[in-house]
Amino acid sequence: MGIGLRNPIHVIGGGLAGCEAAWQIAKAGLRVILYEMRPVRMTPAHKTGRLAELVCSNSLKSEAEASASWQLKREMRRLGSMLLAAADQARVPGGHALTVDRELFADAVERALAAEPNIEIRREEVESVPNDGIVIIASGPLTSEKLAADIARRTGSGRLFFYDAISPIVDAESIDLSIAFRASRYGKSLDGGGDYLNCPMDREQYERFVDALLTAESVEAHIPEDACIHAGKIPFFEACLPIEELARRGRDTLRFGPMKPVGLIDPRTGRRPWAVVQLRQENLRADSYNLVGFQNHMKFSEQARVLRMIPGLEKAVFLRYGQIHRNTYINAPAILTPTLQLRGDPKIFFAGQISGVEGYVESMATGLLAGRYAAAAALGEEPRPVPRETALGSLCAYISGADPSNYQPANIAFDLLPPLDEETRQRLRHDKRARHAEMCRRAMAALEEHLLAHV
Ligand SMILES: Cc1cc2nc3c(=O)[nH]c(=O)nc-3n(C[C@H](O)[C@H](O)[C@H](O)COP(=O)(O)OP(=O)(O)OC[C@H]3O[C@@H](n4cnc5c(N)ncnc54)[C@H](O)[C@@H]3O)c2cc1C
Repeated sequence: MGIGLRNPIHVIGGGLAGCEAAWQIAKAGLRVILYEMRPVRMTPAHKTGRLAELVCSNSLKSEAEASASWQLKREMRRLGSMLLAAADQARVPGGHALTVDRELFADAVERALAAEPNIEIRREEVESVPNDGIVIIASGPLTSEKLAADIARRTGSGRLFFYDAISPIVDAESIDLSIAFRASRYGKSLDGGGDYLNCPMDREQYERFVDALLTAESVEAHIPEDACIHAGKIPFFEACLPIEELARRGRDTLRFGPMKPVGLIDPRTGRRPWAVVQLRQENLRADSYNLVGFQNHMKFSEQARVLRMIPGLEKAVFLRYGQIHRNTYINAPAILTPTLQLRGDPKIFFAGQISGVEGYVESMATGLLAGRYAAAAALGEEPRPVPRETALGSLCAYISGADPSNYQPANIAFDLLPPLDEETRQRLRHDKRARHAEMCRRAMAALEEHLLAHV
């Protein structure tokens, strides 16, 4: 008899990965206990006690056909992702991105889990990894300290965390719409109307803004390990750098990064602005907007001063300021198998951000797989990894097979998928889009074959 038939499977963390994992296990007919420490014990970033809370942006990335994130979501839908079904129910306009109302999203997830008799939800902090049976650790980037210490001890990993940053949100009514204009880059939006509000800057305004960023005061250290922030040695995740750090890297870095003006024309001047700050709708009510890519580590008072220099935001009311946060993850390539199991103890699975992926969808994706693999193990079967050609398989191949010496968490990207064969590459060498479409076709074919053989 599989071990999980006697004992329920433990899933630690009722976030994106944990909820998806619990759902997959329950759908396989097995009992599962889902532990969530909020609201009893909050994290520094979550605002509510809800399951599957989206802590920052409300975007689940691109739905543009043949993009890497689209392919990942397509495979997850094929495997019955409950969280993507919830996202579809909670969708708000977001151009080519799957953007959701975070409250409606959490509602849909909680409803689905509550209706599932195989799932028991316990609101408590897990302080050490349970020893009885199969466990999925999905406690996320803000894993509580005691559990992080136990994981570090079991995996021989030493420190499990470094730092990341989040972007501010403003009240929609405080945005000056005589300056900020509605548009999507190159006119690409779902309804043709333009999904972003864009705050344009001319050259002089941009230079003044960069100067202000360079001299703005940062947040004080609160805990001893923050000392490295002040020594200018913040181990930031490279894909999520604070704007003041980008400004320090070069005066034009922001203009070629989050403030790039390409594909946008300011209706007041009829010209492309020198730089642009894009604001993305936060919820269905459209009463708040996120400053896209504007994560930062400035003091709140400094954020209010500096960000109000952005044309259109002179009177901005900030509903949330940017912040630095801890990011906890294991050095996955050193200790995980492609089926997300601990090499030294295969009863333990990892999923979500702590497993070494980056991003909401990637966290859900590894939750989905860990749930399926854990269910297989509980039934006494050998978990069979999804094919390497798929986006799901490539993500797991990366986290379990990358160079462990300087491991950085990854978002899904075509670079992670195996290259096309030489003949196809040659044939499509002038057409990147066609190459990506071919990789997506190949991935789906491999997934279908896998499902036919193993389900
Ligand atoms: C501040 C912040 C902003 C981010 N912004 C974005 C973004 O905009 N876009 C994006 O794609 N990704 C973002 N990420 C990265 C990542 O995609 C999200 O953190 C995502 O929620 C990760 O999913 P998860 O399931 O791994 O973790 P979570 O969704 O955080 O879920 C983990 C859960 O485990 C619970 N928990 C922790 N310790 C214990 C314990 N000991 N016992 C019981 N429960 C416990 C937590 O309360 C939490 O609910 C951000 C991360 C952070 C921290």
